[in-house]
Amino acid sequence: MKMKSIVIGAGFGGIAAALRLRAKKHQVTIIEKHNELGGRARVFKKNGFTFDAGPTVITAPHLINELFELFNKNPKNYINISPLNTWYRFVFEDGTKFDYSGNEKLMKKQISEINKEDIIGYENLLKFTKKIFDKGFTELADVPFNKPLFMIKQLPALLSLKSYKSVYNLVSSYIKNEKLKRILSMHPLLVGGNPFTTTSIYGLILYLEKKWGIHYSMGGTGQIIKGLEKLMTEEKIEIIKGREVTNIISEKNKIKKIKFDNNKEMDANNIICNADPSAVYDNLLSENNYNPLFKWKKRRMEYSMGLFVYYFGTKKVYNNIKHHTIVFGKKYEEHLNDIFQNKKLNNDISYYLHRPTATDKSMAPEGNDCFYVLVPVPNNQSRINWSTEGNKIKNLVIEKMEKSLLPDLRKNIVTDFYLTPDYFEKELNTKNGSGFSIQPKFSQSAYFRFHNKSEIYKGLYFVGAGTHPGAGVPGVLSSAKVLEKII
Ligand SMILES: Cc1cc2nc3c(=O)[nH]c(=O)nc-3n(C[C@H](O)[C@H](O)[C@H](O)COP(=O)(O)OP(=O)(O)OC[C@H]3O[C@@H](n4cnc5c(N)ncnc54)[C@H](O)[C@@H]3O)c2cc1C
Repeated sequence: MKMKSIVIGAGFGGIAAALRLRAKKHQVTIIEKHNELGGRARVFKKNGFTFDAGPTVITAPHLINELFELFNKNPKNYINISPLNTWYRFVFEDGTKFDYSGNEKLMKKQISEINKEDIIGYENLLKFTKKIFDKGFTELADVPFNKPLFMIKQLPALLSLKSYKSVYNLVSSYIKNEKLKRILSMHPLLVGGNPFTTTSIYGLILYLEKKWGIHYSMGGTGQIIKGLEKLMTEEKIEIIKGREVTNIISEKNKIKKIKFDNNKEMDANNIICNADPSAVYDNLLSENNYNPLFKWKKRRMEYSMGLFVYYFGTKKVYNNIKHHTIVFGKKYEEHLNDIFQNKKLNNDISYYLHRPTATDKSMAPEGNDCFYVLVPVPNNQSRINWSTEGNKIKNLVIEKMEKSLLPDLRKNIVTDFYLTPDYFEKELNTKNGSGFSIQPKFSQSAYFRFHNKSEIYKGLYFVGAGTHPGAGVPGVLSSAKVLEKII
């Protein structure tokens, strides 16, 4: 008899899980609350503009290609991913700019313009992050961390890679200049962590980018989701859209079936949750079955930052703006402390500006420009009232961008809308409205994260940002590779 597997949630992790199980000949159903797939990677279309809701920086594209190759299909017939030359433009309050890329000659030229002495440190940092990458990504990203003994065995290597240091501290041990420290340690922010507290193991992202480059999916990241949906349909995965799972029903800790928001039920041998693990354990399952250790683990979890994302289209084309721009505020560390520790807003913001039209004109009507700006904010543990604060942040970020990057912005905006942590909490069902599930700290990584194979329920599995190895598209795609090994 065929194994019947249900995947709850169709983000990148859920889709990858559905395909990997289908390749193992399971009968697979994937259920998504919204009318379109993608989760954080869904697409909003408004007035001729195409706004990718979330991921824009595509790294490790082979992990996407692999999903097509599982079924002997050529990815090029479904998606079109191409490398970018300039990866990020970093901009500082004093106007200093740094174009970050895989071109080492240009990188070193710019480093020497800021601080010549840091060239050697940069070279040594790259060498060290390669070591972290070899262990943390190549060796461990797609292996299960369900057993404590396996974690214990990894500890000596992780300690020799200085996992007890933060990414910022690791970078500071090689680099003297503060601007360069910020540039080379910002990577945890891409997966919801604070560079000042995230374990140095996440320094591996710096090397991962260098190894495989940074890519863009023509037509937007949404085109990758569209290609994967086509593949799922061709491979006879049942796709149910616009239905929320409200309950996972078990008997003696063995998963039996799920219940939908219309009270219908569906049974299965395995349930794979791409939905946020904290929210699943809190809302879809029964707390009565949790042992004290698990209750403690769940209670002590720290959540990633929230996100304010403002999507806008302009009638003016801002040709001098790169595809990805990161602007650092003056009080960078203080801003991050306010977000992660103090859970309060700070007007001295740092932000990321996305301009897909720099690479792909199809994202906006002719003669227009398409953007989103992402401002990290506290998650909903802050109890901030976004219905009043949302508009204030929108005005603050427009004002900032108008002064430094996009002159006359306000009068050129022709369409706009924004999302706050409330969207992540209410629409995407994430605990505390966090942008990236639980934080990527050492104390909540690998064995200490939510396990891919539930330690409480038989037949229950997790893929996606809240489980091993963690957030970001490469992370959640790797979590489906872990699943493939344990199911
Ligand atoms: C604004 C933003 C920018 C980002 N930029 C990048 C980037 O440039 N590069 C990168 O690699 N990563 C980026 N990330 C991170 C990356 O997008 C995420 O880590 C990844 O997409 C999360 O995928 P996931 O598989 O965990 O599922 P999610 O995308 O979180 O999807 C989970 C799905 O489950 C559904 N669901 C939840 N509960 C239920 C239920 N009860 N019933 C049915 N369905 C349910 C939700 O509706 C959702 O569709 C970004 C994230 C955000 C928010």
